[in-house]
Amino acid sequence: MTFILETRNVGYSYGDGTKALKDVSISLEEGEKIALVGPNGAGKSTLMLMFNGILRPSAGEVLFHNQPLQYDSARLREIRRKVGMVFQNSDDQIFAPTVYQDVAFGPVNLGFPKDRVKLFVDYALQYVGLSGYERRPPHHLSGGEKKRVAIAGILAMEPEVLILDEPTSNLDPASSEEIMEMLEELNSGGKTMIISTHDVELAYRWADEVILMEDGGVLRKGIGPEIFGDEDLIKRARLKLPIVMDLYKELVNRHLLDDSRPPRNILELTDLVESRTRGTNSRVTLGKIYISNVDDASPEEIKSILNGSHVNYTGAMGTNAKALAEQAKKPLDFTYGVIDKCILKALTGKTSLIMTSGGMVDHSIKRIRDYCEESGAEIEVVKLSPLAESSVNPDSQEISSQTDSTKPAEAAQ
Ligand code: ADP
Repeated sequence: MTFILETRNVGYSYGDGTKALKDVSISLEEGEKIALVGPNGAGKSTLMLMFNGILRPSAGEVLFHNQPLQYDSARLREIRRKVGMVFQNSDDQIFAPTVYQDVAFGPVNLGFPKDRVKLFVDYALQYVGLSGYERRPPHHLSGGEKKRVAIAGILAMEPEVLILDEPTSNLDPASSEEIMEMLEELNSGGKTMIISTHDVELAYRWADEVILMEDGGVLRKGIGPEIFGDEDLIKRARLKLPIVMDLYKELVNRHLLDDSRPPRNILELTDLVESRTRGTNSRVTLGKIYISNVDDASPEEIKSILNGSHVNYTGAMGTNAKALAEQAKKPLDFTYGVIDKCILKALTGKTSLIMTSGGMVDHSIKRIRDYCEESGAEIEVVKLSPLAESSVNPDSQEISSQTDSTKPAEAAQ
């Protein structure tokens, strides 16, 4: 097990004497999605500010890759490059007159030459879906766009860890989902992600690891079902159960479900109810899920995939995929929670297409394969290749593909 960040007996008091952290010892694994969860004032933000040396502990120590943080200016600059922090309020982070200048701030400060700065900024803006926004003044952007600019500013420094304080606060539901999906995409590309939140719904479905905080200390660390399945613990932290967990507990209390496997999301809950009420074998013929890697295709090819395919629903994950769907003038049925929604549709006999890119392609296949292994459902997954798309057969209205229809386990290999 590799720990990327650790705190050992960390304590912190602010100048006015407020004890914000008390004896916090936690270890965070590399490549994980971690949520610090707790009510206001629990110490989440203060702990986050320890991770890249913005604050220095009054007691104990913080380690990055097993090395204690050093607080001289050269090493602080280095740690802040590797552990990037996105503040809760984007206006605290964004200050340059244009989007380009703001995102370039980090690389310029690192002393990169102009052409390298441009390369990094172009990459970061493209990743967050803001190519073309370079000359816009950030203060004219929407809340979701500002958050993207702040994330791009961090990405331009190629960090190993991204820390986001309350990433969805003040965003509307669609913008929140898009930001969380972007964090998922970054994580599937290998980055360790740490968020703080008091949104239990978000933490439960998103995080690999939950750290429950209260009154400057850690109440419990564990996987979502352990933490959110413990009603007393959640009450003590002045939080509430996620709706899926609440409903599950009610169904267990009424002896409609057993209490062996708390569901993480609607898909798992629906499955439990279905297997209890009519058994998995009585399902209709399952629909397929096609997955298209938009990185490998031009807008024309994407257009031909969308027009030639016989799919009931189309979803896109990631900014590139969404931008291409827009260029192809294809209205999308799903723009967030895409994989689970496509699985839910497959279970009712409908066929879906997921447009995505990069590491999210394999991530999608793995998610479907894991679901199939757990549930016993055999959903057919077809990875599409744009080269084969040009040979879509208009008579059969079926998508042809370089990859033969595969069961998820084979497709993922
Ligand atoms: P959370 O992020 O969980 O809401 P914080 O880390 O912001 O919690 O706050 C932890 C405690 O530290 C709270 O009691 C808060 O009032 C206090 N605190 C936070 N920032 C400051 C500050 N700049 N000066 C004094 N007290 C602070």
